[in-house]
Amino acid sequence: MGHGPTSSAEGPALPSFPRRRESSFGENPVLCTDAWSPSCAGMTEALASVEMGEVRGDGVELSPETMNSTQFPWPGGRQMALSLSFDDGRESQWRNALPLLDRHGVHASFYPLPSAVREHPEPWRAAVAAGHEIGNHSLTHPCSGNFRFSRHNALEEMSLEELEQQELLEANRQLEALLGVQPRSFAYPCGQTTVGRGESVQSYVPVVARHFLAGRLFFSEMHNDPAYCDLHQLYAVTMDNTDEAGVDALLEAAQAEGGWLILAGHDAGPEGSRQTVILNTLEHLCRVAAEPANGIWLDTVANIASYIQGDRTA
Ligand SMILES: [Zn+2]
Repeated sequence: MGHGPTSSAEGPALPSFPRRRESSFGENPVLCTDAWSPSCAGMTEALASVEMGEVRGDGVELSPETMNSTQFPWPGGRQMALSLSFDDGRESQWRNALPLLDRHGVHASFYPLPSAVREHPEPWRAAVAAGHEIGNHSLTHPCSGNFRFSRHNALEEMSLEELEQQELLEANRQLEALLGVQPRSFAYPCGQTTVGRGESVQSYVPVVARHFLAGRLFFSEMHNDPAYCDLHQLYAVTMDNTDEAGVDALLEAAQAEGGWLILAGHDAGPEGSRQTVILNTLEHLCRVAAEPANGIWLDTVANIASYIQGDRTA
């Protein structure tokens, strides 16, 4: 479905992503937002029958897991959530991705290094003014020294204290000074979450949890289950070099489970590459999310994490 007429960037064609699925509850597509309220009695009954091994009228067997996953009360009765995120603050993001997103009124999450913002502060100030999220991606982007580019700035040689003070908190200070924002979410550089090696490895997830509402991984396989996921180890699937059919498959899987799909990329341009999001794919995502029938809540990582946290504490 990625290369048909609906994938044209200029045509008025509708997005190719499948329309709203029929509810698991046949004639009654109401989402149950409170498992204990009388209006959810039907759902409770349906769940009970599924637990007893019943099969839906059309012959599709529903597992209790599937039923449960449809219960997360996304706002406005929507079926899933989607966040688009970009790391490092690369120039092609504000040259290519931001104008496209702004044209669609889509808010994305950007994780620029403070050094990148200092080099070109104006487009990043404009991004903040347009409502995009600016999150923290550390000060100097430490990753495993197994990456040669990080051999002299390796997580293996770093202490938790160093990471907290010199990387996370210092980046917060600099981003606040440059852009007047207080980052609410963090994107782990290279998606890596530990310092040290072997028996002395320590996770820095608790450090991220202490200072941020959410932490986003990278190179994950799938969407997050909003009812279960660790907000400080959120899965994020790469959207670099991914075509429309590729993102449609991810959206479909997230929609089927009422999940939160977080996509993460780097550069943005007309041609894909190992670290480049294809602009046609980005355009496609914006159109698909704007189609009400698809039931997608597209918002920033921080806004969706905040909603989930609110639901958990309610
Ligand atoms: Zn990065």
